[in-house]
Amino acid sequence: MKLIRSQIASELNNRLFNISAKILPERGIVFLEDKIKCTISSKIIDSGFSIWGKIRGINKYFCIRCLEPYPNTLNINFKVMLSHEKDSTNQETLETIFFHPNEEKINLGDLIADKISLDEPMKPICDINCKGLCTQCGVNINKSSCDCKLDETDSPWDELKKIDFNLK
Ligand SMILES: [Zn+2]
Ligand SMILES: [Zn+2]
Repeated sequence: MKLIRSQIASELNNRLFNISAKILPERGIVFLEDKIKCTISSKIIDSGFSIWGKIRGINKYFCIRCLEPYPNTLNINFKVMLSHEKDSTNQETLETIFFHPNEEKINLGDLIADKISLDEPMKPICDINCKGLCTQCGVNINKSSCDCKLDETDSPWDELKKIDFNLK
């Protein structure tokens, strides 16, 4: 995903870019729709450009409880600085991407792929009420029930009960 420098320099105002998920660098994200919509605004600043916008798309995560894939709607805001000064001190502590002053095209593919990848929750859950899998037979309890009962005689603590503490 490359932006022509002159486009950015024209101070984009919520310009919509339709990006194919296929052209993004691989970050292990599975997209359900190939089309990723990215709206970008830009502003000229001393050391380059400030750009910000939104990334929207539909991808899929795997629920850590039931292990089923589920669709997720991406709606990510970003704001970064594109700078041609390697050592520019950034008062706003904004994330900075460097580009060569002679570069005609600026590649935003890594930025977009990173933002999408960082948006993934640590523990994706398909639904807060997801019941997960039965720990005994592995059936997905959201979809069907099983006859497993928690067998109380099978508790790991039972072994302790067998120990005779009244040693004479
Ligand atoms: Zn689930
Ligand atoms: Zn079961």
